Amino acid sequence: MHENLETTAAVIGYPIKHSRSPLIHNDWLARTGSPGHYDILEIAPDELGDACAQLRESAMKGFNVTIPHKEAIIPYLDEIDETAQKIGAVNTVSIRDGKLFGTNTDAYGFLENLHQGVPCFKVDSGPAVVLGAGGAARAVIYALQQEGVPQIILTNRTRSKAETLATDFKNIEVVDWEHRTGILSKANMLVNTTSLGMVGQPELDLDLFALSTRAVVYDLVYNPLQTELLKHAASKGCPALGGLGMLVYQAEKAFEIWFDIKPPVTEELMNKLKESL
Ligand code: NAP
Repeated sequence: MHENLETTAAVIGYPIKHSRSPLIHNDWLARTGSPGHYDILEIAPDELGDACAQLRESAMKGFNVTIPHKEAIIPYLDEIDETAQKIGAVNTVSIRDGKLFGTNTDAYGFLENLHQGVPCFKVDSGPAVVLGAGGAARAVIYALQQEGVPQIILTNRTRSKAETLATDFKNIEVVDWEHRTGILSKANMLVNTTSLGMVGQPELDLDLFALSTRAVVYDLVYNPLQTELLKHAASKGCPALGGLGMLVYQAEKAFEIWFDIKPPVTEELMNKLKESL
């Protein structure tokens, strides 16, 4: 680990070089006049326990947790809140009095981006179709249910993973991945939580023919900014949201937890992030 006296917060992961979190948090540290620096700490899976012991003793306010440690870190923490428990993963840890407290700000980031992007949309006004059943899907399902979604129709390439989510959360109907196009007619909202459409990954093969033009389409992928899914949604006239805002708002919540200041999400920051992709 290479944190130094200047490090007030960091992100831990493996590999981690391409994280955009330093760009976001260092912008906010500078803008809010907060001292210190946000760094990247590359920690291999077999180093996680030792790293947590060191971080506990550090002068840092806290750290973000990313792949592959979001679930593995839980046993090393002193406490996790209800949100992290339900999602089953931690993405933000705060350090207080030598103790590590875990939470998950992805659900907040997902909802804040939705409320900012489509202010008139009501999650509780109809069913949501969710594609994917990985870690991001758990945060999205938690968020949607917090907002009172009446039903979630969940589909994933590996059906058994979707069935596990249906056991962990209420009101989820699991549908085979092969039938993903047919279920769109029921959707008030469509959320892609798979990695399909991301740079270096295959495209998401999905015909939006049956989708209502009033349905909100939300793609968690943020690189590229305009995925094929978002392009198709926009060409139908559906409100369409990409994942960059979620990335920024989950960071906003983490910054607020550590420094007790709500940082500004400026156009300049969004532009810097877009240029970094
Ligand atoms: P994950 O746990 O690895 O889950 C990946 C999901 O994608 C699984 O449902 C997987 O299905 C599916 N998938 C992968 N390749 C596929 C293929 N060829 N065909 C069909 N399905 C496929 O990853 P995650 O953490 O949930 O992240 C998923 C995506 O969300 C990533 O693109 C990530 O960058 C994005 N994300 C964005 C934000 C944000 O702030 N915007 C936050 C978190 C995540 P199987 O179960 O069948 O493997």
